[in-house]
Amino acid sequence: MLPVFDIKVQREELDFYQPILCDCCHKYGRYEAYVEYSILRFIGIPCFPVKKRFYAVSTCCNNLYLIKNREKALMIERQQGHNVFLFEKDLELIVENYPCTDL
Ligand SMILES: [Zn+2]
Repeated sequence: MLPVFDIKVQREELDFYQPILCDCCHKYGRYEAYVEYSILRFIGIPCFPVKKRFYAVSTCCNNLYLIKNREKALMIERQQGHNVFLFEKDLELIVENYPCTDL
């Protein structure tokens, strides 16, 4: 039997490509972006999204960032990513796969 209410997390790749010279690994790479929705479901039927978060991943060292700048994130979602440039202040490092310190 299905639970009456549950939350389903859904991930969607966004059309975003920003070349970077990475501050962490000092290599050339790019940021790619995706959005993650938490959707409230009633007996398995999606009702409405309860949470929506935007993430960027660096392809060079696979660091995962939360995109804190909501305005830029929404522009990427509206396929205006070519007008968006993410700066360090727009991002919050969540998962670090490469030590992000100067050795
Ligand atoms: Zn890197």
